[in-house]
Amino acid sequence: MTGYRGRIAPSPTGLLHVGHARTFWIAHQRARDARGTLVLRDEDLDPQRSRPEFASAMLEDLKWLGIEWDEGPDVGGPYSPYRQSERTDHYLRVWQDLRRRGVLFPCTCSRKDLAGAAQAPHEGGDDEPRYNGRCRDAPSSATDPAGATWRFRVPDGLTIEWQDRGAGPQSYAAGRDFGDFVVWRRDGVPAYQLAVVADDIAMRITEVVRGRDLLKSAARQLLIYRALGRTPPAFFHCELVKDDEGTRLAKRHDALSLRALRAAGVTPDDIVRRWF
Ligand SMILES: [Zn+2]
Repeated sequence: MTGYRGRIAPSPTGLLHVGHARTFWIAHQRARDARGTLVLRDEDLDPQRSRPEFASAMLEDLKWLGIEWDEGPDVGGPYSPYRQSERTDHYLRVWQDLRRRGVLFPCTCSRKDLAGAAQAPHEGGDDEPRYNGRCRDAPSSATDPAGATWRFRVPDGLTIEWQDRGAGPQSYAAGRDFGDFVVWRRDGVPAYQLAVVADDIAMRITEVVRGRDLLKSAARQLLIYRALGRTPPAFFHCELVKDDEGTRLAKRHDALSLRALRAAGVTPDDIVRRWF
């Protein structure tokens, strides 16, 4: 084992399809090539959309495909638990750390306030409309996130650059490419950006492999690392699988699930040859 620590982080909100599987396959290959450790993290934070039956299906489907991990919810490991829904205390500590550092503010905007400020339709799965800054300077003495939406105040005009190992050189301007983003939801659920940074730090991840729809999320996450005074991991954002018409598979309702392919007699080798 070397110092390389990678992770695959599926969300149990549906059946895995070949688009997700390709990203996980690449993450698996990179960890193996580096003789490193691969972590599987169950990103089941969204209580409305996550289902335990999808969580067990995704582990089973990944194993069927030939992907193996060294640490995860089913095998344990030194940084357990590996299920995000069991890590809320940990996210709360990161929220408190960011709050002490003065980069968070509560946002009381209604859905209507936000809709009025929405920019052109966005592409990415986890992208969000650029915030108008309405609550930015409102005073607050809150010491816990309960009952409010919390946003990260981005340093306007700061350029965030990194050399992406998959997508090449990247450059985003805070305040122009994205605004103050959500780190804690009003319903008490930590937002994706905070949870993944908290987990990647805690699990000592050295390289993050995921789809290119998350490039702009990486820029936001780099701001969180910066605010926490932590060194970020390397990033490798992969190309997304498209169908013959050029539509992203993840965007299609009939996206090919591993389960359906398997039932139709398709083998893991066929999948690797055809899509990966
Ligand atoms: Zn607001």
